[in-house]
Amino acid sequence: MSDAHAQPVEKVETGELLTEDQLNRQQVICVRCGSKILPPSTGVYVDDVECELVSMRKEDAGLVEKVTQFYKVDDMFQFDNVGFTHTKDNIKYLSCADCDLGPLGYHELSTKISYLALQRIKYSA
Ligand SMILES: [Zn+2]
Repeated sequence: MSDAHAQPVEKVETGELLTEDQLNRQQVICVRCGSKILPPSTGVYVDDVECELVSMRKEDAGLVEKVTQFYKVDDMFQFDNVGFTHTKDNIKYLSCADCDLGPLGYHELSTKISYLALQRIKYSA
């Protein structure tokens, strides 16, 4: 699934976002509708995986971004709420369960592990 045209995305500064155990400190919500996605201290920060995700911005329709910062979630039931956009090969792409915004990350069918992209979410105070 390599695409030579994939755009690298700007790195998210994680200093304030993570607990000492590298977990998400705050409640993760949808950037568009504010719906709850992942409770605090549930996702483990990883930056050693890489996934190419289609841009969520309408003006960049078709643009593919190379995303490398994710919260790794071992069990789907740890999410507050999450939906799927589509399945491709061994991967289901995650979306907001309420407004369908996505892809927010991906779910590996073989390992049942989900990866939520830091660039595609926000936090509630
Ligand atoms: Zn939403």
